[in-house]
Formats: sequence, structure tokens, C-alpha cells
Amino acid sequence: MNDDLIARRKRLLGPHVTTFYETPLHLARGEGAWLWDTDGRRYLDCYNNVAHVGHCHPRVVEAIARQAATLNTHTRYVHDTILEYGERLTGHFGHGLSSMVMVCSGSEANDVALRIAQAASGNTGIIGTDNTYHGNTAAVSQLNARKPPVGGYRDHVRQIPAPDNLHPIGGSRAAQEEAFYAATETAISELQASGHGAGALILCPYFANEGFPTLEAGFLDRAVAAVHRAGGLVIADEVQPGFGRIGSHFWGHERLGFAPDIVTLGKPMANGHPVAATVTRPELLETFQNAFRYFNTFGGNPVSAAAALATLKVIEDEGLQENARVTGRHALAGLRDLAARHMAIADVRGAGLFFGVELTEQDGTPATALAARVVNEMRERGVLIHTVGKFDNTLKFRPPCVFSRENADLALETLDAALSSAVATR
Ligand code: PMP
Repeated sequence: MNDDLIARRKRLLGPHVTTFYETPLHLARGEGAWLWDTDGRRYLDCYNNVAHVGHCHPRVVEAIARQAATLNTHTRYVHDTILEYGERLTGHFGHGLSSMVMVCSGSEANDVALRIAQAASGNTGIIGTDNTYHGNTAAVSQLNARKPPVGGYRDHVRQIPAPDNLHPIGGSRAAQEEAFYAATETAISELQASGHGAGALILCPYFANEGFPTLEAGFLDRAVAAVHRAGGLVIADEVQPGFGRIGSHFWGHERLGFAPDIVTLGKPMANGHPVAATVTRPELLETFQNAFRYFNTFGGNPVSAAAALATLKVIEDEGLQENARVTGRHALAGLRDLAARHMAIADVRGAGLFFGVELTEQDGTPATALAARVVNEMRERGVLIHTVGKFDNTLKFRPPCVFSRENADLALETLDAALSSAVATR
């Protein structure tokens, strides 16, 4: 690694701009589930959900190149690709979710969603979990649980405890649903008492940033009903679980079995091209458009629409949801075998190609340092993962959805070796 590059990066992009790993990676090329660094070393990518259909998928590359060579404009002209895409995308939704706003990032998609909820409900209160991240705009970053906003959280934001496998809210796994519902009701009452009212409950339906706890279908039903009773809307942030990643369903909200009023999409939507969207019911979109004169120069431009359309077609044509289901099940079984041999593995969980293990010390406290060691050991051994959760002690695997059974076996073997080595050398 060239130290000069790191120094230039810090100087130009700021001292705290993040890089993964003790020895940062300088990547040069990607293909499928593989990445190569500038020295030609190959890494198995078990982390990047953005390259959903595989790094540099030829059909997506070709669609971008062809459209970029033909026409790219802002979005105030009529263009058919955005319509073809919108019809195909909304075909994957039920619950009347048949309209969309195309934007350029998940943050923007959530910003739009919050404004739709405000416009439709007339309320400004927002409820999120106490261990979440939904993006970086001024409005959305009010929900950021890790770094409180300057001046503290605003009065219109309420954080409710996130469900968790090892430290369940309400004291037990069985009590979590009731505890989550009760916290939602309390937050609603507080927002009503302070004059904000319940505008929106915003959640990742897989609780991805919260550490993807194991939840039964129906978990959110009573919380969702409470928000609706109070006149608020429910926003499902599908930036991480969406587009078939969780295997059993195309969307996280389908897996939990609730009907969101708004769904936000991002990261994997165009395989790395900056495309995101807010999907909602037509009447809600109209209310939003009446309340705000919303325009997005780049959102859904012809190149973005072509990239998103090609990505969606590849997901469908290559059966990637089914691959996520089958390969994910195989990987989870392998993780369970590892758990039987490694004391540090306290929990194994996940769905489809979004799975991981939570590491603890013998006394049950989070093994945060060990998890960081394992992540770096695996990087040295050529497999890329990262951590998640309140204590960063859960190893997160969220590879491109072309991830194969052989890829999973290699990831498991490497985890086995990295964990043994990290435990032995700490
Ligand atoms: N929602 C969730 C659940 C996310 O994890 C993220 C990014 N990590 C975002 C929204 C924001 O997306 P973006 O970085 O594209 O703005």
C-alpha cells in the first residue's frame, strides 16, 4: 500500500474519512464476487451489497455505456426507460405501492419519504430505533443513533429500543414484540403531547444496521397499527435487505408480513451506479407533490434508469433471489457447525445472503476487539467481511447475490482459520 495515497486521502478528504481494515485495500478491478487489488491479489467479496448482481456485470456495464453514448439529460424531458423501469420495479410490490420518485442515494430516498409522511399526515414526529442509520441529509441524520446531531436530538425525533438476539428488549426473545409495541405507543404519546404528532415510523425491516436480529413474521404488526391509528405513515427502508437478498422474499417487509406506506431503495438498485428511489401509493405521491415543488436533476436520468433496469433484469433472469435463498441456507448451516467448535461464537443468524455470527467473551460480554481481529485476519487471508451491531461484535456477511456454494465454503473455511488464529494470538 502506497503511504502517500493514504496521506493525500487524509489531507484532501479529511482525517476521519474511513477506510476498512488495518491495512487499507487499494482495489483495481472486480468481477462477480471477486475483487483484485493493485498488486493483482484476489479477494472474495463477502461484504458488498452494492454490487448486487456481481461486480462489473457485463449487462449492466453495457447498458450504462450504451445509454451514456446516446443521451443523458436532466429529468425534465420525457424518456421511456424510466417508465419501463418504474413499471417493472413496482410490479414487485403489493399494497398499492405503484408510484415512485427516483433519486441518487438512500439518504435522499429517506429524506423524500419523511417529507411524504409529513405532507400526508400533517405531523412532524419521527420514530426510529436507537441503533440505526438511515442516511446523511440534515433531516435524516437526526435519526443517526451512533453520532448525535450537533445540539442534540431534536424534539420531533423519538428513538425506540431495537430488537436484539442476545440482549432482547423486554428481557426475553418472547417478550420483544410486546416491548417494541409498547415503546412505539410511548413514543407516539410523547410526540402527540409535545405537539409534533406521529408523522412516521421509519425502520429497516431486516434491522440491518441494528445487527439483523431474528424476528418472526408479524413482529411489527401492532407497532405498525399503532402508527396508523395515530395518523402516521410507516416507511420500510429496504436499502439493505431489498431486491431478493434475503432469499425467501424479494423485500424485507414481505418477510415480516406488514404493509408499508412508503418503501425506500438504494445501494444495490443499479449495481453501483448512484440510483435510489422512494416507492409509495399514488395518492401519497400526489400529496407530496402538492406540498413541495420537488425536482431532482439527476434522479432517474436516462443512464441511471438504464443501469437500474439492466440490474433488475439480471436479478430476475439469473434467479438471484433463489440463489440467495439456497446459498444462504448452506452458509448458515456451515456457520452453525463452526459455532459448535468455536466458543466465541454466541449466536448465528441471518436470511439469504445476509448472515453472520455474534462473538462474545466467556463472560458473555461483547467480543468487540476479537471481532475486529477476525475481520483483519480474514482480509489478510483474502476474504472481505466487516462488523455490525451496537458493539461491533457481529461479523457481517452480505456478499453480491451471485455468491456461490463454493464461495460460501471458502468464506467458512477462512472464518474457521481466522477465528482460531485471532483467539490464539490475542
Ligand atoms: N438506509 C440504510 C438502512 C443504510 O444502511 C444506508 C447507508 N448505509 C442508507 C439508508 C443511506 O444510503 P446512502 O449512503 O446511499 O445515502
